[in-house]
Amino acid sequence: MNVLVIGRGGREHSIVKKLSESKQVESLFVAPGNVGMAKQASCVAIEETESIRLIGFAKENNIDLTIIGPENPLLNGLANQFLEAGLRVYAPTKEAALIEGSKSFAKEFMKKHQIPTADYETFTDPEAAKSYITKKGTPIVIKADGLAAGKGVVVAATKEVAFQAIEDMLVSKAFSDAGAKVVVEEFLTGSEFSLMAFVHGENVYPMIPARDHKRAFDDDAGPNTGGMGAYAPVPDITDDAIAFATKHILHRAATGLVEEGRAFTGILYAGLMMTEAGPKVIEFNARFGDPETQVILPLLKNDLDQVMLDVLDGKDPALDWEEQVCLGVVLASEGYPGPYAKGVAVPNVEADQETFTVYAGVDESASGYLSDGGRVLLVGAKGITLTEARKRVYERLESNVDTNGFFYRSDIGKSREDVLK
Ligand code: ATP
Repeated sequence: MNVLVIGRGGREHSIVKKLSESKQVESLFVAPGNVGMAKQASCVAIEETESIRLIGFAKENNIDLTIIGPENPLLNGLANQFLEAGLRVYAPTKEAALIEGSKSFAKEFMKKHQIPTADYETFTDPEAAKSYITKKGTPIVIKADGLAAGKGVVVAATKEVAFQAIEDMLVSKAFSDAGAKVVVEEFLTGSEFSLMAFVHGENVYPMIPARDHKRAFDDDAGPNTGGMGAYAPVPDITDDAIAFATKHILHRAATGLVEEGRAFTGILYAGLMMTEAGPKVIEFNARFGDPETQVILPLLKNDLDQVMLDVLDGKDPALDWEEQVCLGVVLASEGYPGPYAKGVAVPNVEADQETFTVYAGVDESASGYLSDGGRVLLVGAKGITLTEARKRVYERLESNVDTNGFFYRSDIGKSREDVLK
């Protein structure tokens, strides 16, 4: 069978790697991909936004299954267009993907379907937002309604910071249309984890949980990023908590979307806070998380293409996981998530016996890879314990690797709750 993956980041490399292990995948393409994926798939020079060319390519090459990685094409209706063209695609329509695309839609949806989440109000008027903030007190969280690449969320410790966020979003329009509406929500405390599931209509098949590390620097300092490292599963999240989240969050969301005429097909991602009152939703995404995918898929024993085909056919894919922990650390360009230089020689951290490498922002040159993005690559490893996996990754990163021009966090899998185990 012939498979096309759309996207160019670490998440897509991880999907490509997994698909390349499947015997029934004969031809594997990625559009546009990155040079680091070329060992496993043929990179096709078509951008994620070029829907007509993507559909033309899928038809000409008899693609049996297309997987769309990033959120922007989903919200622009790429899956709708594939379906209209009679092509098989494992991704949500833009109507279903709205659960990620509009935070005010997601919050209202959660309220309606009794999905546990932080209390909130939605505002377009800055003065009304400010009086709500004054009434509720701080800490409080301000979120731009639309997609803002992880930058549209302000966790405000003081009223001044909260008011500034309101000014930036509603008055100065720092996020243009994405911030024309804001959600102001209750600050939740607890430890975060991500739970993703393969979904088709009302059928939900959860994966193992993962924990991302969003802040740029050690000890969760610095700005939020796309994610600086992750591990799966998460030892401090109990089976009961996962069962609760599956039933009251993922199932309710899938059923609610069907009821609203927005049936979801694809990967439903719940970003969760383990509060004292149980798991609560911080956000929904309509696709694989990055970098969670890079540490979850290496533990999946099933063939990924078969899982997706089974789910599309209404069959239980019987997910089977290795009894190990997988951890990954992102190497990013110095300056990320702010401005950074491109074209810097990327250190050679090709996989060895104990580690693997997933490429994101890389390009080719005669002398090796050059950086071409904020997050450049991820070094990952499996281990019997979190400590073992972490040791393997950091030994690889610390052994003769010249990371000049790049940085990585030295504490992935080592936060306060992580070392309790
Ligand atoms: P992503 O890049 O994953 O799409 P996003 O921009 O959609 O992120 P959120 O995931 O909603 O933003 O929030 C980013 C981070 O802010 C969360 O991981 C969490 O640490 C913090 N956060 C968001 N909402 C809350 C909340 N209600 N209480 C406490 N912390 C929160």
